Amino acid sequence: MNETFTSGSRDDAGFRERVRLSFDLDVDICVVGAGLAGLTVALEAARLGASVAVLEGRHVGWNASGHLLGTVMPGFALPLADLIERVGFEDARELWTLSRDGADLVRAIATEESMPGIAPSDGVLEVSNVDDGERLISRLQMLNEDFDTEVEGWQFDRVRDVLTTDRYFHALHYPKAFQVDGRKYVHGLAALARRAGARIFEDTPVVGFDPSGIRKRIVTPSARLRASHIVLAGNVHLGAPLKRLSETLLPVWRYAALTAPLGERLNEVMAFRGSVMDSDGIDHFRIVDGDRLMWASPETTWAARPQRFAGAIKRRIRSIFPTLGDVEIAEVWGGVTGRTVHGMPQVGELHKGLWVASGFGGQGMNTSAMAGRLIARSILWGDERWRLFSPFELVWAGGPTGRAAGQLVGLWNRASSAAAGSLARHRERVRVREREREARLADANGAAAKGPRRPSPVRPAPEHEPSESEGISQ
Ligand SMILES: Cc1cc2nc3c(=O)[nH]c(=O)nc-3n(C[C@H](O)[C@H](O)[C@H](O)COP(=O)(O)OP(=O)(O)OC[C@H]3O[C@@H](n4cnc5c(N)ncnc54)[C@H](O)[C@@H]3O)c2cc1C
Repeated sequence: MNETFTSGSRDDAGFRERVRLSFDLDVDICVVGAGLAGLTVALEAARLGASVAVLEGRHVGWNASGHLLGTVMPGFALPLADLIERVGFEDARELWTLSRDGADLVRAIATEESMPGIAPSDGVLEVSNVDDGERLISRLQMLNEDFDTEVEGWQFDRVRDVLTTDRYFHALHYPKAFQVDGRKYVHGLAALARRAGARIFEDTPVVGFDPSGIRKRIVTPSARLRASHIVLAGNVHLGAPLKRLSETLLPVWRYAALTAPLGERLNEVMAFRGSVMDSDGIDHFRIVDGDRLMWASPETTWAARPQRFAGAIKRRIRSIFPTLGDVEIAEVWGGVTGRTVHGMPQVGELHKGLWVASGFGGQGMNTSAMAGRLIARSILWGDERWRLFSPFELVWAGGPTGRAAGQLVGLWNRASSAAAGSLARHRERVRVREREREARLADANGAAAKGPRRPSPVRPAPEHEPSESEGISQ
């Protein structure tokens, strides 16, 4: 298994005593992986009456699912325009609806009485690093009119009323998107799945399986299972049991930090209480506990100690909110996400009774919930909508070469986004100077028109007609 580093205080190992599988078992469905995807399959399938066993190599929420910012919104990592181009308008609409249903499912699960302290709060702002109002309007129309998604367009003065920075211009506001405490959510999900009858075994890696035959065999170091269906929800860690499937994902480690309490100065730079993410996918942040910032930004295609990125996140916060001053980083953590070449998750049946729910990238809350429900309903009710994902095949992500290329592409995207952002801010400064110059000119002309008329000094006629601004200091 690849290693994911987390800081001690976010490591969830201590939440409850772990149960390891040490005896042979027969179930309807065996789920590999107790992240968001695997646990949602388990919950949904158990609620539909199936006997379910979840096998987790480490512990519940060990990787990305226990280390996220908790922002839940509709959509996929693949931009909507690209989705339409890839599958056509009608299928894109259906896929989008599924992604929205995924967000609704998270809200429904999170607000069940048995998930205390999950603290859902509404509103997500997708801010633009460049001043491109036309693109904003066309996305707004498409989301509102064609994709039945409630979205508001915010002009840049409204954005700057709630975020004191010159970095962002327009924004799309999703009033029905929301955020939850991600760590509590994944543990709450496990508790609900157990209550519905699913059995979750931790410290139980799957080291091999045989998917042929009606009853499939699954091997762990100390026990064997038999199941009619296997759901692979192991993200990039799947390893030996299906190396070729793991190789269709590019592992991308994302790092996040929590600041120490910042007091009133945080309210002065940020009045928006939901999540903020930029349209280039670089920064993603929100206020937690009233006066602390939770901020995700750097990415690598190799595992690194998250603490190494504390300084980078601190600098990032400073570059977006310079007036916030120095901030103390209290905690840093990271997790690895699996990205597909085409940007869409892997959802579907690979072979009779062998299912995959993976590749959710940086937007896994709604998409893993969607995949979990879809697969449970496919197995138990014969729901065929997973076939909408068929155009997005399992494409090899390029192995180590793909990782190196992925890192370069990531750096390039960040650099070009930074360049586009500074060009947009330069243009804005030029526009502001131009407006100020025009205002001064108008004032001066007004004053000249109202002022006492003096007799014109006798002087030779100009060789050319003076322009409006000539002779007026600027
Ligand atoms: C810093 C950060 C912030 C994020 N913020 C957000 C956010 O705000 N909103 C959002 O939508 N998404 C966010 N994401 C993305 C989201 O976390 C992921 O897309 C999602 O958690 C993936 O879930 P998963 O179940 O596929 O994978 P994982 O969480 O990786 O779970 C897979 C599990 O499978 C287990 N496993 C693998 N192989 C085996 C095996 N052979 N045997 C047994 N067990 C195995 C692993 O141990 C692991 O626990 C964020 C990610 C990071 C890193």
